[in-house]
Amino acid sequence: MPKDLLRPHVEHFVYQKGELHVEDVSVREVARDVGTPFYIYSASAIRARVKLLVDAMASLDVQICYAMKANSNLSLLRILAGLGCGVDLVSGGELERAQAAGFPGARMVFSGVGKTHEEIVAALDAGVHQLNVESVEELVAIDEIAGALGKVATVVLRINPDVDAGTHPKITTGTRGNKFGISYQQAPEVYALASRLSHINLVGLAVHIGSQITDVTPFRKSFERVADLVKVLRAEGLTVERLDLGGGLGVAYSPEPRFDVDAYANAIRETLGDCGCALTMEPGRFIVAEAGALVTKVLYNKEADGETFTIVDAGMNDLMRPALYGATHPAWRIKEPTEQESAVPCHLVGPVCESSDTFGRFTSLPPLEKSDFVALGVAGAYGSTMSSTYNARPLVQEVLVEGNNYFLIRRKQTVADLLQYERVNTEGSI
Ligand code: PLP
Repeated sequence: MPKDLLRPHVEHFVYQKGELHVEDVSVREVARDVGTPFYIYSASAIRARVKLLVDAMASLDVQICYAMKANSNLSLLRILAGLGCGVDLVSGGELERAQAAGFPGARMVFSGVGKTHEEIVAALDAGVHQLNVESVEELVAIDEIAGALGKVATVVLRINPDVDAGTHPKITTGTRGNKFGISYQQAPEVYALASRLSHINLVGLAVHIGSQITDVTPFRKSFERVADLVKVLRAEGLTVERLDLGGGLGVAYSPEPRFDVDAYANAIRETLGDCGCALTMEPGRFIVAEAGALVTKVLYNKEADGETFTIVDAGMNDLMRPALYGATHPAWRIKEPTEQESAVPCHLVGPVCESSDTFGRFTSLPPLEKSDFVALGVAGAYGSTMSSTYNARPLVQEVLVEGNNYFLIRRKQTVADLLQYERVNTEGSI
C-alpha cells in the first residue's frame, strides 16, 4: 500500500482480503446487513486494554473503576464487569445502567460535582463503595441524607491539585478556576470538617486532572501533591486509607507514540506506593477508545473553491468530538487502498445543518466514491455516549465483534421512538 495512505494503527482493525475487518468480521458485510452509520467495537481490543493496565499495575493494590461515561453500552459494561473492573459513574442513570450490567455496589465509585438528592439516596441504597465529594455543601447534603436514612456514607474528597494536564482546555479539570474538586490548599480544613460529621465515613482523597493526557509528568505532579496532602492530614491525626487516582490516560488518535503505561505505573509507585492506601483508578477513554470506530457511507462528493467535500451519512450528532473539541479521528476507507492509488485531500463532512458538522480535512485518504464506506477510527470513547438526536436523526446503532461473530448491541432508534415522548395539546390554545 502507498506510504501516504493511512492504514489502521490500532489492534484488531486490519485489512484482510482487501477490506477492513474488525477482528475477523468484514466491516462491509456488517454495513450491508445493518445499514450505516454504526459504531463497531472489538471485544478482544477492550480485553487487551484492561490486561495492559492490570499487568502494568501488577505490584500495586489498584482497583480499576472504568469511567462509564466514555461508553456505557450494556454489552461493553458486561465485558468489563466480567473482567473484575468496577465503575466510576456520574449520574443516577449511570448507576442504573451499571446495576443492569451486573456491577455490585461495592465496585461503584460515584463522582461528579452535582449529585442530586435522589442520586445520593440511590447511591446509598445501592451501597456504593464511595461517593467522591466535590464541595462542602455536597458533603453536608450527603451527611443529612445519610442521617435521614439511618446510614453512614463512605466518602473521599476530590481535591483540585492545580496541575495543568497539558490537554485540551475543555477537558482539563485539575487547575485553579475549574469547577472540579476542592482546592488542595483548602483540603485540610474541609477534610477535618468532614471527619467530624456523624453520618460520613471519610476514608480518603480523589484526584482527576483531565482527559486525553499523553505525558506522565502532570500525573506525577498531581500524585506528588496528593502524597504531600496525605502526610499533612495524617500529621493532624486524620485517617487516610483510600486514594482514587482518576482517569485521563491518553490514547493514540494518530499513529503516534503510545501512552507509556509502565511510566504511569512507576509514577504511582514512586509517589504513592508506600503510603499504605488502597488505590482506585478511573480510566475511561484508555479502555474503549481504540476498540471502536464509526462506520459511515459516502453519499456525495462536491467541489467548492478548489476543495473536495465528501458528504457522509454520519454527522456531528453521531460523533460530537470534532465539533465539540476540534478533535480529529483517523479515517480509513473500508476498501483497502491499492498500490496505484494516491491520496486525494477532502473534507469529510456530515449531513447536519451546521458548518461545525465536519470530521476534518483529510490528506491521507484514497479517492472516495459515492457508496464507499469509511471508518472513523479510535471512536469507542465519548462517541456513542455523546451522540444526540439533533436534526431528528435517531441515535446511532452499535455492533460488537468477537472473533468472527458480531452482534447488534444497540439497534437503530426509529423516528417513532423519538416521537413517543411528545404530546400535542389539541384542545387548548397551546
Ligand atoms: N474520572 C472522572 C472524575 C472524570 O471526570 C473523567 C472524565 O471526564 C474520568 C474519570 C475518565 O477520564 P478518561 O476517559 O480520560 O480516562
